[in-house]
Amino acid sequence: MDGVHAHELIDRAPVLARLAAGEPVEWANPARKPMDEVRCGQELGAADIGDARSRLERFAPLVEELFPQTRERGGIIESDLVEIPAMRAVLNERHGAGLSGRLLLKKDSHLAVAGSVKARGGIYEVLKFAEDLALEEGLLVSRDSGEGAFRSLAGEHAREVFAGYSIRVGSTGNLGLSIGIMGAALGFHVEVFMSREARQWKKDLLRSYGAVVVESEGDYGAAVARAREEAAVDPTCHFVDDENSRDLFLGYAVAASRLRPQLDELGVEVGEENPLFVYIPCGVGGAPGGISFGLRHEFGDAVHCFFVEPTSAPCMLAGMASGLHGGICVQDLGLDGRTQADGLAVGRASGLVGPLMCPHFSGGLTVDDALLFDYLRDLDGSERVFVEPSACAAFRGPARIERSPELRAYLEAWGLAGRMGDATHIVWATGGSLVPEEERATYLAWQGRGLSQPRP
Ligand SMILES: *Cc1c(COP(=O)(O)O)cnc(C)c1O
Repeated sequence: MDGVHAHELIDRAPVLARLAAGEPVEWANPARKPMDEVRCGQELGAADIGDARSRLERFAPLVEELFPQTRERGGIIESDLVEIPAMRAVLNERHGAGLSGRLLLKKDSHLAVAGSVKARGGIYEVLKFAEDLALEEGLLVSRDSGEGAFRSLAGEHAREVFAGYSIRVGSTGNLGLSIGIMGAALGFHVEVFMSREARQWKKDLLRSYGAVVVESEGDYGAAVARAREEAAVDPTCHFVDDENSRDLFLGYAVAASRLRPQLDELGVEVGEENPLFVYIPCGVGGAPGGISFGLRHEFGDAVHCFFVEPTSAPCMLAGMASGLHGGICVQDLGLDGRTQADGLAVGRASGLVGPLMCPHFSGGLTVDDALLFDYLRDLDGSERVFVEPSACAAFRGPARIERSPELRAYLEAWGLAGRMGDATHIVWATGGSLVPEEERATYLAWQGRGLSQPRP
């Protein structure tokens, strides 16, 4: 972005100057629209989400066969939703949140198989690829073939067929884990191109499942580009395109319909009088975008979805505020994109998610790395729940929703200011249960003081 160009953009969206200065910001999306104004004219909709949900149900017997730890939920990979009153008290007492509603934690950090939100999108995309191949190769007669037929895809014959195909993906760690674990379980050859932020234990774990890990010194965008190039020359290779994938997006979106019964269980009503606020950490945008898209189709105008990014890598916010979406990267703003939140170390947002989510997202926030470790310790100390640094970004939402002038203006504008006592807030914890013990201890002891300090 040259000087003149930068000026024009900043005139259009003053928040960009604050992002460029590395300040933590809160931003309300002026383009959010009521649901009945956006339902038509979008390239994806409720029918696509329903289709993804049915596919996951068809595959449940196979998932259960491959991963016995999913038996309790009948092969459906889903996480708990729990109330965290002690953490709410910490946010109010130590972080000045002034939060008046209830605070819940969605524990995708503890999702079976992959231990992160990527167990939704990543695993869904692998299963969809496997289903299409199985139909093509005659392993399945139809999509309605029944339980036994789907379960037989775990058998020797199917594995031999799948072994003739490969899957490639670029990742900061967790996407690679979910694709690698599910891909290898079905017999595919999987290659994961890891960006420089990827933690060593994630690479080791992935290799232990038989996936090939290709390490690089480049950032996330560079890792994706390499995976894309290598996949393009190989007709037997499926490339999981985190920057553009509809399948990943729809896999994430299924989360929403499964949330409703969990809210019912906790006695949480959602409606005009009882708004639901959801805060999701954001990297390239697929996970927060897909989940929020699903939530808007499920709860309509009663749900308010915010994405949260590190101050050094606010690619989605830069894309939304400028209107350029994938056409601007954080380096254009003079930021380096480096953060301890490895899963959020992304310089350029998905070109699919930004435009699609424009009428849906309520807004975005950025958070300093140092605070992530405070939240991590606070949650561990108050609720005895461990989540990884990237997941902690979401706590910035409830910490600021009733305090920030920008977000209070949002509440006023949508008629919510007087209803906050009846509101419910969900922090979407996106990863953490697979983090090894030593690594947890280092995170818990880490006194984050910004990026000048060595990595933990
Ligand atoms: C990938 C990831 C995210 C963000 O998902 P995107 O699809 O990249 O936006 C958030 N938290 C964790 C732990 C992740 O692994």
